[in-house]
Amino acid sequence: MHLPDLGILNEYVTVPKVFHSYASGRPFERCICCEKNLLKNGTQYVIEKAIRQYPGFGATDVIYEYAMCIECTTVMRNALSSDSIRVIENYLSSRVNLVERRKRLLAQSGKDVNTWLSNCLISGTAMKDSVEYQIYAHCDGGDLLFTYLPYMVSANALQELDGLISSETKEVLGDFIDNHFGLPPQYKELLKRRKTLVL
Ligand SMILES: [Zn+2]
Repeated sequence: MHLPDLGILNEYVTVPKVFHSYASGRPFERCICCEKNLLKNGTQYVIEKAIRQYPGFGATDVIYEYAMCIECTTVMRNALSSDSIRVIENYLSSRVNLVERRKRLLAQSGKDVNTWLSNCLISGTAMKDSVEYQIYAHCDGGDLLFTYLPYMVSANALQELDGLISSETKEVLGDFIDNHFGLPPQYKELLKRRKTLVL
C-alpha cells in the first residue's frame, strides 16, 4: 500500500495496559523471534493480541499475544508472495482509508487508545459486539505510536481476509517459520495460527 510516511512529533503515549503482556502483567520486553530488547528507545516493534470475550460475564481471555521487532516483521513479510501481499492490500484499501482514519481519530479523540480500538478497522463492528478480535499496536521503546495503528480487527473480518490468502502462501510461510526462527514449538504454532495482517 502506498501510504505516506509519518513524521511522529508528539503522537505517542506510554504503552497502555491494554497492550501489556497478559502473561507477565508488564510491557513486552522481547521480540518473539530474535529476543531483541524492545524497551530501548528507537527500537520499533509491533504488538498483536487475540482476545475472546464472554458477553454477559464481563470476562475476556487472551488467546495469544506477542511482540515482534520491525526487522523480524519485515523478514516475515518478505516470505509472503507478492500476489498475496497485493490481495491483502487491495482488500484493506477497498475497506478503509488509513490516512483519513488517522486524521479523523487524532482530531476527534486525540491520543485515546480506547477510541482507536473501539470499532473493527475493516467491518466497523463495535468491540463490544465482537466475540473475538485482535488488536495491533506499533511501538517504539516504552511508547505506543499513533501511526496508522493502533487498530482492532474482528475475527469475522480476519476470517474473510484469511480466505483470500492462498494455501500455497500459507505453506510457504509455515515452512519459513519452521526454518528461520529458532523458536520453541509452541511459539512456532502461535505464529502459524496468527492471521497475517500486513501493516
Ligand atoms: Zn526481532
